Amino acid sequence: MATSTAMTSQDYMQREEKYGAHNYHPLPVVLDKGEGVHVWDVEGKHYYDFLSSYSALNQGHNHPKILNALKKQAEKLSLTSRAFYNSVLGEYEEFVTKYFGYDKVLPMNTGAEADETAIKLVRKWAYKKKGIPQDQAKIIVCEDNFHGRTVTIVSMSTDPDARADYGPFTPGFVTIPYNDTEALEKELQDPNIAGFLLEPIQGEAGVNVPDDGYLKKAYELCKKHNVLFMADEVQSGIARTGKLLACDHEGVRPDVLILGKAISGGMYPVSAVLADDEVMLTIQPGEHGSTFGGNPVAAKVAMAALEVVREENLADNAERLGKIFRDEFKSIQSEMISEVRGKGLLNAVVIKPKNGKTAWDVCVAMKEHGVLAKPTHGDIIRFAPPLVINEEQLRDAMEKIKETFKEFE
Ligand SMILES: *Cc1c(COP(=O)(O)O)cnc(C)c1O
Repeated sequence: MATSTAMTSQDYMQREEKYGAHNYHPLPVVLDKGEGVHVWDVEGKHYYDFLSSYSALNQGHNHPKILNALKKQAEKLSLTSRAFYNSVLGEYEEFVTKYFGYDKVLPMNTGAEADETAIKLVRKWAYKKKGIPQDQAKIIVCEDNFHGRTVTIVSMSTDPDARADYGPFTPGFVTIPYNDTEALEKELQDPNIAGFLLEPIQGEAGVNVPDDGYLKKAYELCKKHNVLFMADEVQSGIARTGKLLACDHEGVRPDVLILGKAISGGMYPVSAVLADDEVMLTIQPGEHGSTFGGNPVAAKVAMAALEVVREENLADNAERLGKIFRDEFKSIQSEMISEVRGKGLLNAVVIKPKNGKTAWDVCVAMKEHGVLAKPTHGDIIRFAPPLVINEEQLRDAMEKIKETFKEFE
């Protein structure tokens, strides 16, 4: 079973099942090609991608500008490691710090690595600047958070699936409910708190949008107690929610900004931590790093991907089409739809199971109709198409979604 011509979707799925670890449970569709908002499976069937690889593909599949940047740089110089300087990294560092308005950037590859970097950075700052006694620094995190999959990150998780049988866990985290500034204020009384890490909108948990004013109030409380406000915008950032960053909705500028996913337009693993000198310069040579972090290909890809966000006004598009999406969805008459929520084009629909049919069954049926989305946390379906989607494509996909819900009546 080595050649592809005679293979069916079933064959591809069975091969993954046989040779790959079983750490995912994909929807039964085998994709072969993508362009913009479109993907095609190995049988040539067309779908709208309404997941965008968890919002990594905000700029759409195979964006020509990003693809070109990748190809050009890959042909010239792919990797130098940070043992040597190269002709691209500084250009990227200047570009990305000016783009987001910070003094410095620390480049990594995946979202989890960027979160790990942020944790280490905030701990360093706690000992070097805030004067917290050695090994006593704590970081406040929120219930139902998702920051990735490393041991330290699952140590902050409250999701039993993410944690079970992975202990012992990293200490130094204090968990409070999300969207609760009273709980935050209470924990901030502890002088050993160094940082508060949160997602401005909780993506994996099912697109939990906090109350208006929450981010601003939380930020102000952190300032009052000399605690760093750390925003994980790996999923909510890069125009997804209708602004460049979800924090921009409340005019909050995080002390530590964590980015990943769409910073590369889904073309390459790129992540970044941004902060000002007082924080970033607490890490000295040899104290943190990554072989691939900030490599020339990643740097060129990220610059192209961020240019696309600006040139194509993706934030405005997400804001406008997000409203249409939620209005259209709310107009669907179905007992299975119990809530529609979100911001920009990061939305979720809570499904009330009916006759034993769950969110999973809805997603499988949507796939048959040509729209791909995936349940997150049980009965919540996340809808997050590439931000390059236009109104006509959105309305066409909505028709397919409506047909799907009719089937369950
Ligand atoms: C996806 C995600 C991560 C982890 O990113 P990886 O690249 O999968 O390691 C971290 N934080 C948030 C908010 C995410 O959505």
